[in-house]
Amino acid sequence: MNTALVAGGAGFIGSHLCDRLLASGRRVIAVDSFLTGRPENVAHLAGRPDFQLIEHDVCEPLDVEGPVDAVFHLASPASPTDFDRIPEEIMWVNALGTRNLCDLAQRDGARLLLASTSEIYGDPLEHPQRESYFGNVNPIGPRAPYDESKRFAESLVMMRRRMHGLNARVVRIFNTYGPRMRLGDGRMSIEFVTNALRGEPLTVVGDGSQTRSLCFVTDMAAGISRAMYLPATDGQVFNLGNPSEHSVAEYAELIRDIADSSSEIRHVPARPDDPQRRQPDIGRARKVLDWQPEIAPVDGLRRTVDWYREHLALAEPS
Ligand code: NAD
Repeated sequence: MNTALVAGGAGFIGSHLCDRLLASGRRVIAVDSFLTGRPENVAHLAGRPDFQLIEHDVCEPLDVEGPVDAVFHLASPASPTDFDRIPEEIMWVNALGTRNLCDLAQRDGARLLLASTSEIYGDPLEHPQRESYFGNVNPIGPRAPYDESKRFAESLVMMRRRMHGLNARVVRIFNTYGPRMRLGDGRMSIEFVTNALRGEPLTVVGDGSQTRSLCFVTDMAAGISRAMYLPATDGQVFNLGNPSEHSVAEYAELIRDIADSSSEIRHVPARPDDPQRRQPDIGRARKVLDWQPEIAPVDGLRRTVDWYREHLALAEPS
C-alpha cells in the first residue's frame, strides 16, 4: 500500500487531506507538533490500521519508518493572529521544517508537495494573480515572517529539485475555509461565522471593499492530492483557490444571512499590509490537474455555519 506522510496533518487543511488520502486507499502518517492544530481534528481516524499520528516538531529531523512515497508539507501556522504571536516559529518551520521534509523525501525517493500561499504575491499589482507573477512583498513588515519564509521554502524545494533531483511541486493556496478551522484564529470566514452565531458584531476591516476568494476545504484537499499524484506535476507551481471573488462586506452579509443572525456589521481600521485584492488565476490547475472548486460559497458557508453551530454549542454550554 502507498504511504503518504502529511506534516501538519492535525491542522485544518491537513486533517481534511488525511481524510481524502485514506478514502482513496492510501496509508497515512500524520506528523504534527500541535502548535496550531489539534489531535481532535483527526480523532475520528484514531484506531484505523492505515492511519498513524506522530507528535513531532518538523524543525527537528524526522525518522519515520519508511518507505514513504509522498511527503505533503502543510506544517505551518497560517492565520494573521499567528503572524504576531509566533512569527519566529513560522519562519523556522518554513525553513528548517522544509529542509527536514526534503531530506526525508530524498531518503525514500518520495515525491514532495509544499503548501505555499497566495501571500507570496504580497499586495499584488497584477490581478488576478498567475503563477508567473513574482509578487509585491514588504520584506520587513509584520506579515514578512510568513510571506518571506514561504518564499524561502519555495526556493529551497525548487533548489533541491534542480540540484538533487527531488520530485517536487508547490501549491499556492488561497483563502480556504470550512469545518475544523481554529476558533478565534483571526481569519475572516471563521470570525464572521462565530460572531454571527454568537450574535456579536461582525468586524469588517477598513471599508470592506477589499476582496477575498474563498475555497471550501474539501475542494482544496482534492486539488492538493491531484497536484501530488498526477503525472507531469514535477517542478510545477499551481495556484489553488476559488476564483469567485467577493468583497469582505459581501461575505459579512452572506454569512449573517446564512446564520440567520441579527448581528450588526461594524467597521474597524485596516491593518498594515492587509492585502486589498486577492484572486487566483487557476487556469494552470484547470488544465494540468483538471481541477476546479465544485462547492459554491453559499453551500460551503452553510456547511461551515452548521458545523460551528454544533461545536460552539458544545464549547459554550448555556
Ligand atoms: P493550521 O494551523 O490549521 O495547520 C498547520 C498545522 O501544522 C497545525 O496542525 C500545526 O500544529 C502544524 N505545525 C505547525 N508548526 C509545526 C512544526 N514545527 N512541526 C510540526 N507541525 C507543525 O493551518 P492550515 O490553514 O491548515 O494551513 C495548512 C497549510 O496551508 C500551511 O502551510 C499554510 O501556510 C497553508 N495555507 C493555508 C491557507 C488557508 O486559507 N487556510 C491559505 C494559504 C496557505
